[in-house]
Amino acid sequence: MDPVIYFDNNATTAVAPEVLEVMLPFLSDRYGNPSSMHRFGGLVRRQIDAARQQVAALLGAHPEEIYFTSCGSESDSMAVVGFTKVHKSRARIITSMVEHPAIRSLCHGLKAEGFELVEVGVSGAGLLDLALVSRLPLDPDTLLTFMWANNETGVLFPVEELAALAHDKGAVFHTDAVQAVGKIPTSVETSAIDMLSLSGHKLHAPKGVGALYVRKGTKLSPFLVGGHQEHGMRAGTENVASIVGLGKACELAMGNLTEENTRVRRLRDRLEAGLLATCAGAHLNGDPARRLPNTTNVSFEFIEGEGILLLLDEKGIAASSGSACTSGSLEPSHVMMAMGVPYTLAHSSVRFSLSRYTTDADVDAVLAAMPAIVTRLRSLSPYVKS
Ligand code: PLP
Repeated sequence: MDPVIYFDNNATTAVAPEVLEVMLPFLSDRYGNPSSMHRFGGLVRRQIDAARQQVAALLGAHPEEIYFTSCGSESDSMAVVGFTKVHKSRARIITSMVEHPAIRSLCHGLKAEGFELVEVGVSGAGLLDLALVSRLPLDPDTLLTFMWANNETGVLFPVEELAALAHDKGAVFHTDAVQAVGKIPTSVETSAIDMLSLSGHKLHAPKGVGALYVRKGTKLSPFLVGGHQEHGMRAGTENVASIVGLGKACELAMGNLTEENTRVRRLRDRLEAGLLATCAGAHLNGDPARRLPNTTNVSFEFIEGEGILLLLDEKGIAASSGSACTSGSLEPSHVMMAMGVPYTLAHSSVRFSLSRYTTDADVDAVLAAMPAIVTRLRSLSPYVKS
């Protein structure tokens, strides 16, 4: 395959070579079942314990508070469904209008089952107003679930303040931190966050592994019943190689946080400034300050985001658009709609998301390609008079 100039790291990341290296033995000769009594199993069990410590260290948590899952979506379900099973018909959920479908569709499904659901809106910059949440009635049967960082815009929510607000009223606080972990500090040590979801493939571990942090004392129903794995909360023989890889990825992420906030942020800012300066009719989506260091989301007036992606793809550049093409109709992103971005601008949004492997040459390639792509597509646009 031709090398790709990769700007789609919020969709998924490359597995770090150091991660692959620690995984390989568990895909070949170290195949023991971690639940087995013999030494062959015990050796594998110890590696899972070590990975649990590595994940816990990144979050400032205790290892017993980490449950391995199969992905970020599963972690989100384990938290939210687990809460509703404990609180039964009394359970109410408060969330935002810009959550990832892993939370949004889940909550809509729970609403259809009869649970009370409140979805809080955001400002034009994608920010959440704490005062709005503080006016809502909160009690011990209320779960607040708010994402830490938005996958489309990178905009950050004040999750520590939200968690404190929840705790004041005895409510429980969960955050979908899938996009935040590994990019910004996400310690739960000094905050009131009760549950936190993360996903391996967003931080240079493989796909098919995730984790849920559950603060000691938080009541949650088991997600999968059967064996005693994951303290009886998530039965099933462990995905050992991927768990070991996730542990290593968390260790690497700890050492990489400064680089995310210096080198990666500088590259993102250079890319963004270049796009806004050289592409006429370009608009930034989301708050410029309160967002992830690796993400920029830009709309290009009068042209479709999909068109831009196809022409970028011809040049070997991978990015992403906010809108999804479903059953022949183009639905604009619910995130852009909640921010009040006009329909046509929402359709023209493109997300560029960087990683520790992004280089200056990658940024140069996008900046060289984009002005001509925008000019070409705009000349074909029915909205622009020539
Ligand atoms: N939450 C957010 C904010 C995400 O961006 C994603 C994936 O894009 C998920 C949850 C789902 O994670 P996974 O793909 O591991 O299920």
